[in-house]
Amino acid sequence: MSDQSEYIEQIKPFEDKNDSNNDRTVIHGIAASPGLAFGKVFVFEPKTIEISQRIVEPEESEKEIEQVKQSLQRSEKELNKILSFTEQKIGNAKARIFEAQILILHDPDLLDQIFHRIRSERKNAESAVYGELTKIQESMLNANDPYLRERADDIGDVKHRIIRNIQQERLFSRFKGTAIVVAKNLSPADTMLLSRNDVLGYATDMGGITSHTALLSRSLKIPAVVGLSRVSRVATTGDEMILDGYSGTVVLRPNKGDIDRYTEKRRRYALFEEKLVVLRDLPAETTDGRRITLSANADLEEELDFVGFQGAEGIGLFRSESLLIGRDTFPNEDEQYDAYWLAAEKVYPHNVIIRVFDIGGDKVYPLMIEENNPFLGWRGIRILLDRPELFKTQLRALFRASTKKNVKILLPMISGVSEIAAAMIHIRDVKTELREKNIPFDGNMQVGAMIEIPSAAIMAREIARLVDFLSIGTNDLIQYLLAVDRGNPTITKLFQEFHPAVLRMIQHTLDGGHKRNIHVGMCGEMAGDPIATILLVGMGIDSLSVVPSVLPEVKKIIRSINYKEAAKISRRAMTLGTPEEVFDYLKRTLKTKLPDVPIG
Ligand code: PEP
Ligand code: MG
Repeated sequence: MSDQSEYIEQIKPFEDKNDSNNDRTVIHGIAASPGLAFGKVFVFEPKTIEISQRIVEPEESEKEIEQVKQSLQRSEKELNKILSFTEQKIGNAKARIFEAQILILHDPDLLDQIFHRIRSERKNAESAVYGELTKIQESMLNANDPYLRERADDIGDVKHRIIRNIQQERLFSRFKGTAIVVAKNLSPADTMLLSRNDVLGYATDMGGITSHTALLSRSLKIPAVVGLSRVSRVATTGDEMILDGYSGTVVLRPNKGDIDRYTEKRRRYALFEEKLVVLRDLPAETTDGRRITLSANADLEEELDFVGFQGAEGIGLFRSESLLIGRDTFPNEDEQYDAYWLAAEKVYPHNVIIRVFDIGGDKVYPLMIEENNPFLGWRGIRILLDRPELFKTQLRALFRASTKKNVKILLPMISGVSEIAAAMIHIRDVKTELREKNIPFDGNMQVGAMIEIPSAAIMAREIARLVDFLSIGTNDLIQYLLAVDRGNPTITKLFQEFHPAVLRMIQHTLDGGHKRNIHVGMCGEMAGDPIATILLVGMGIDSLSVVPSVLPEVKKIIRSINYKEAAKISRRAMTLGTPEEVFDYLKRTLKTKLPDVPIG
């Protein structure tokens, strides 16, 4: 297989291959949590609930209500157990998912409606719960708002839990020995409860990179592939499976060739990882002395320690909107201050770049509005400029957390100079206010702009006059430049970071920033792709902020290359006409120069 066809195969989202001889099946999904797993399948099929419907006589209604109340108590007890288990295992931030579910159990309007259905509509307990929660769940699912759709899953989980407890059914989440768990979908609670077994990996039909299964399995350090569309229908408990959480592939009932290939891949990864440990305290510097600031993208409390362990020079992207996960309201100034201060303290003496709320688009946001096209709608800086009280509260918290002089702010979704100018007025006002109140802060705190909208990339030179640094967000830049929805699995293959137009946008941004002598970094996913490292260094990037798990690999590449040679390679890559040619060329170059870096 040529390198290019391998590339195409890797990025095809849902294509299956069937080898009729041994029933071997390869399914491509979405790589959700890195790692390789090899073992027997356990198909997790939670019992489908069946609702019995009956007309309740008036004298029975209080008994039915009592059943609901008892079930709510049992459900709360179960959720509290899962909550504390999650807190112990992966920290407070992730446990908030279950706090949100407990809150649903206490919603007075919801309970009133359920009791009303029993008393006035004469429904029995389980059908009243089912009817009321399904109504809410469906209205959320129909909303054109990803935050609400996520909340709909929480409602669905809670609904099943309450009904299961009314029916006094037990939940089985234990199995013997080790296994790769295969399921149609996994709720956050299933993911956590199953992890008490010896789970080698998770493979699910549904889910995306930001689904709960994906987020939790990354924290649990269990390899996972999601969005496999039909794995739960073709796998049977006891089947052998190889799960590749790096490339997002599973091989069901593998043949000898697969087993040999994956054993070799695992061996290479293990060897490589051992070598990476020694790099931890060394700088990301090319062999001819060009220094790159190599930092990590991290925002959850439990990720902050891992960042230092991986040898990052601080945090290059702290997505402050992560503070909103599992909440219906914005955190107040003090709550925000605590989170920013913690991050600044943990990475000191390195820097933390905190991006102000990038809400809207596909992200969480407690301001509920319906938009036909949220990615092109009210998002990021647009919301903050329209809601100055929200913006200024965040700015006050950020400035107050800056006294160690290691905090920088980053403005998301900038499309041109006017938004920067408007944001700067608020920044100036907040500084004046803090000075008047004698509250200490870093008067020289740097402010940067995200370059993630093509118009901003084109205007990079003008924008660079107003800010202290630029940070290229390739996730959105590619989406908006190539008109490819970043979250749509059907068109994953069109989301091409090596598209020549993307390379030219990046080069233009770098040139614009450098003309004004400011630092230009990158914090989108492309920054952490080892195949892109030589290209980006050669183009002149000053810093890369990457997901912590790939950081040592990127550092190893930077430390093995010569800047002048990388510049030559980049110039050559920029002459190529298609994404496949660029990818192919870079992959070949990396393989030749650094044969021990495992790719893909
Ligand atoms: C980006 O767009 O590349 C980026 C880093 O921001 P986010 O993924 O949070 O939109
Ligand atoms: Mg972005």
